[in-house]
Amino acid sequence: MRIEGVGAGPAGLWFAISAKRCDPSHEITLHERRAPSTTYGWGIVYWDDLLDGVRRIDSATAQALRTNSRKWAGQRVCVRDRRPVHLGGTGYGLSRQRLIDVLARRASELGVRIEHESDVVDAADLTNADLVVLADGAHSRQRRRREQTFGSIEWTGTNKYLWLGSTKTFPDFTFAFEATPAGWIWLHAYPFAAAASTVIVECREGTWRGLGFDSMTSEACVQELSRIFARHLDGHRIELSADDTAAGHWATFTTVRNERWHAGNLVLVGDSAHTAHFSIGSGTRMAFEDAAALARSLKGCRPADLTDALQRYQDERRPAVLNLQRDAATSAAWFEDVDRHMRLPPLEFGYALRMRRESAPGSPLHHALHRVTQWRVGRTARRSVTVIRRAVATRRR
Ligand SMILES: Cc1cc2nc3c(=O)[nH]c(=O)nc-3n(C[C@H](O)[C@H](O)[C@H](O)COP(=O)(O)OP(=O)(O)OC[C@H]3O[C@@H](n4cnc5c(N)ncnc54)[C@H](O)[C@@H]3O)c2cc1C
Repeated sequence: MRIEGVGAGPAGLWFAISAKRCDPSHEITLHERRAPSTTYGWGIVYWDDLLDGVRRIDSATAQALRTNSRKWAGQRVCVRDRRPVHLGGTGYGLSRQRLIDVLARRASELGVRIEHESDVVDAADLTNADLVVLADGAHSRQRRRREQTFGSIEWTGTNKYLWLGSTKTFPDFTFAFEATPAGWIWLHAYPFAAAASTVIVECREGTWRGLGFDSMTSEACVQELSRIFARHLDGHRIELSADDTAAGHWATFTTVRNERWHAGNLVLVGDSAHTAHFSIGSGTRMAFEDAAALARSLKGCRPADLTDALQRYQDERRPAVLNLQRDAATSAAWFEDVDRHMRLPPLEFGYALRMRRESAPGSPLHHALHRVTQWRVGRTARRSVTVIRRAVATRRR
């Protein structure tokens, strides 16, 4: 099948790799409007399930991603200068640029053509393709042109956020909350390489205005944020990304949902099909899972059977994505309501943050575990149990 893709981000690239692994006879070209080795954002966070899914399709990519990632263990919730509250959890941080580079190299090895600086104005112009994969991200121009066809809905949250970085290597996944005269402001930070961490700053819109961020230059803004969060930065600064044209622009998170994921020979994957608030760190995994499912549904497919294959893909992915989007909305709402949670004592505040995605309150045993892990010995024991559980799970897989 002749396939053209709009966008060579995680969704487009992993689709191309997965499709080639399923059926090497596919001819695939990806159009990417950016130059090679340029992307937006800093590092992303992910968990074992992403690596497992990748390994099942292409162990070479799984190995390269793991090698380029930094593992973190534990989460820490800091409210001003109070003693941090510790939460469990382990995961990986990975530079977005590394991720794109690893995937692009592997796609090229498998015979995928990537045309950089190729900005697709209208996917309908790609007339040589049997299938056009729209992997052009959350603000997909191609989807927006066909809003009615896909039944697209977009809505924005109320908090403001900024995706930044720092040369400080945060020891674990850190949430740090600081009080300002205009209200609470906080960061979500995690390491993704030596001397490199992602720092996402978030606050309510009123706080953002009250601190003057609505009228500050990007440079003044990072200076002010470095000052506000100085106690967490050990002399390092919060920084803008040099190659990111969107750097320094505060945003409100846009959630995207589509009733239909395909129309004619067009199909949506990744953020163009759906987004999930960054506080659950799952957008890339969802993009990977879409891409793999689409590749599977196309295995052995002739152009005449395309609609059935695309419908199978939608039927498999859409319900799973809706579940995750519900979780993400609950998590986003928790952060929009931080002032209310701040009335809790620190230990309970940390627990509420940990449980923010759950529909039911945690069991007494779970809460007891939370209390025990505030001591180093409790954390060490918990980590040992996690290591064993992960080893068993890996072996089982
Ligand atoms: C602040 C923030 C933090 C996040 N943190 C995490 C995290 O920790 N973990 C996680 O899993 N996810 C995270 N995400 C989500 C993650 O970044 C996305 O889910 C993921 O990038 C989706 O991949 P994609 O390929 O669908 O879209 P994108 O990564 O946006 O890629 C789309 C590509 O299409 C190209 N393109 C667009 N239009 C055209 C066109 N017309 N012609 C040619 N090319 C085009 C773009 O240049 C881009 O390269 C975060 C998101 C945000 C906003």
